[in-house]
Amino acid sequence: MTKPPAPSPRPFHYPAPGSPLHCGKVSLATLARRYQTPLYVYSADQIAERLALFQHAFASRDHLVCYAVKANSALAILKLLAGRGAGFDIVSGGELQRVLTAAPDAAGRVVFSGVGKTAPEIDFALNAGILQFNVESEAELALLAARARKLQLPARFALRVNPDVFADTHPYISTGLREHKFGIDIRRARALYKSVARNRWLEAHGVSVHIGSQIRSAQPFGQAIERVAKLVGQLRREGIVLKAVDAGGGLGIDYHGGPFDAAAKVAEYAAAVEDGLAGFEGQLLIEPGRFLVAQAGALVARVLVVKRNGNKTFVITDAAMNDLIRPALYQAHHDIVPVSPRAGSAHAVDVVGPVCESGDFFARDRKLAPIKPGDLVALLDAGAYGLAQSSNYNTRLRPAEVLVEGSKARLIRRRETIADLLAPELDLDAN
Ligand SMILES: *Cc1c(COP(=O)(O)O)cnc(C)c1O
Repeated sequence: MTKPPAPSPRPFHYPAPGSPLHCGKVSLATLARRYQTPLYVYSADQIAERLALFQHAFASRDHLVCYAVKANSALAILKLLAGRGAGFDIVSGGELQRVLTAAPDAAGRVVFSGVGKTAPEIDFALNAGILQFNVESEAELALLAARARKLQLPARFALRVNPDVFADTHPYISTGLREHKFGIDIRRARALYKSVARNRWLEAHGVSVHIGSQIRSAQPFGQAIERVAKLVGQLRREGIVLKAVDAGGGLGIDYHGGPFDAAAKVAEYAAAVEDGLAGFEGQLLIEPGRFLVAQAGALVARVLVVKRNGNKTFVITDAAMNDLIRPALYQAHHDIVPVSPRAGSAHAVDVVGPVCESGDFFARDRKLAPIKPGDLVALLDAGAYGLAQSSNYNTRLRPAEVLVEGSKARLIRRRETIADLLAPELDLDAN
C-alpha cells in the first residue's frame, strides 16, 4: 500500500508572531478588505487532503466516497471533489441539480438519500441515471417502482436500514435508533427485499445505513456495519446478491481546537468498518460530509460594537445566527479567534450577532483576548453546515464565499444583493 498523504497543519494559522490569521498562504485581513464581511473562507487544500485520507484508507477494496452535499453544497467544492473522483450523497432534487451543474458526468456516482422523496425528484434522478436510491420506507419503494415502470427505466435501490445502534451525539443529529424517523427496521428489511425480488423495474443493488452525525467514536459505525453485513449474508443465501454496502456518513471532528490527527481518525474509522464488513467483497460506499469540509472553513466577521450590560460584556459582530446557526440550533461550540490579536489579558465575553433573538449568539462567557470595534474575528470549523444552513432572516444578505488553494484565493459565491432577495416577491397591485 502507498503511504497516506502527510497531514498538513490546520489551514487557519498565524504564520509568524504579529502577523494576521491566514488560510494557507492567504491573509484573512486581506480577504476581508477585498470581499468585506461576513465572509466564509475555505481551504481547498484541506478538503482535497481529507478526501484522499478516505480514498487511501479503503484503497484495498472497490469503494466510492460519496460526499454528503448537504454539509456544504458550494458548486466550486462539488467540482473540486468530483475532479478527484468523489461521488455524492444527495437528499433532494435541488442537490442533484447542483451536482450535475458542477460535474455533469458525475450522475453515475450519486446516491439519493432522504425520507420524503417526491415523484418529480425520483423522475429527475431516474432520468439522470444515478447509481442508487437509498429507500427509507415501503411506501417509497412502491413509488420508486411505479415511477421506474412509468419511465421504463429500471431503478437500482438500497434499503436504508435502521440498525438500532446508539451513537453518542446531539439528539437532533442522531438517526440510528428505532425511535427515529430514518430508515427501515432492519428486522423488516429481509422480507421487503424478497417481496420485490421479481419486480423487473427494481434492482436490489445495495443496502445502506447512516446512524447520525458528529459521532466521535468508531465503535458504533463498526456495530452498525456488522448488523448490515449479517443481513447481506442472509440475503445472499436466499439468492439475493447485493453489490454495494453504503456505510453512510457521520464521522465527527473536534470543535475544541485540540490536536487533531485526521489521518488517525480515518484509519480508526476504516478499521471499524472493515471489521464489521467481514467477508463482504462488493463495493463499499461511504458518505462523509462534515469530516471533509468542517475544519477547512472559517466565518470571518467584523466587530461592530463592544458593550457592557450589567456585568456582562457583549461583542456584537456583523455575522449572526442566520449566517451560522449551529450554536443556536445544537448548542454547538466554535472556537473564535481574533484575526489580528491584541496584547493584553483575556476576558469572558458573549459573542453575538445583530439579529433580534436572544438565541443569536456564537459564544457565551468565552475568554477572548482584548477586542475593539472594527477588529476581525474568525469563527473556526465553520465549513460544514454553515452557509448550507444559512437563511435571510432579518432580511440579511448571505455572506460571500472564498476558496483558497495554495497562495491563490478565488471568490466562489458573491455576496447577495437586496435585489436577489426581493426578486421572487410579487407586487400586490400587479396581480
Ligand atoms: C447528513 C448525512 C450524511 C453526512 O453526515 P456527516 O455527519 O456530515 O458526515 C451522510 N448520509 C446521510 C444519509 C445523511 O443524512
